[in-house]
Amino acid sequence: MGGTAARFACVTTSPGKAVGTSSRFDHVCDALDVATQFLARCKADGLDLTAHDVVFDIDDTIICDELHNPPLKLFWVMCGALGLKRHIITARPDGVLDNGVCNRAATMSHLQSCGMADYDSMYLMPQCEYKACRGNASAYKHAVRRQIIKGTGFPLLLNIGDQWSDMGELSDRQFMARRRDHDPAATYLCGLDDTYVLGIKLPEDRD
Ligand SMILES: [Mg+2]
Repeated sequence: MGGTAARFACVTTSPGKAVGTSSRFDHVCDALDVATQFLARCKADGLDLTAHDVVFDIDDTIICDELHNPPLKLFWVMCGALGLKRHIITARPDGVLDNGVCNRAATMSHLQSCGMADYDSMYLMPQCEYKACRGNASAYKHAVRRQIIKGTGFPLLLNIGDQWSDMGELSDRQFMARRRDHDPAATYLCGLDDTYVLGIKLPEDRD
């Protein structure tokens, strides 16, 4: 598994605009079908899935407009059943918000209400870092991913999110050129040939 040729595929360029429409989630389903096949291949190739990790973003990924994302939830459950460790990395600030709400507790409660509180770890962005970076969470998300990888010794098997910074190592050099032309309303699959690494870049546009 030493190849590094980039694979990059656009699943769709015109997802449904209204959140909750079947067309929006259909495109997520298309991407998750590929991810499901990818995991089946990993297993067939002898990978011990219980030693590997999947990273999910929260906003506009597993939660869309206060609602859970139905196909993502099914995929979440499947990952758990396969024994994969499920991590959440979000740029939500870890602290008390201006309205007095503890963001971590609110986020945990929200995930609980979605039936998705059985994660292995959840990382919120330290509030001081959140203020300092002015919403650019890329460095933070990379640092957390490196921490997880250092702990397991394996690359992250799968990354799912609506931002390029959610793609981990796949958001780096191999895809920079193509990213210039990317459609923020599209769903993309990212991977490196001959590696067990897959990224699903979901649409950013929710208007
Ligand atoms: Mg997001």
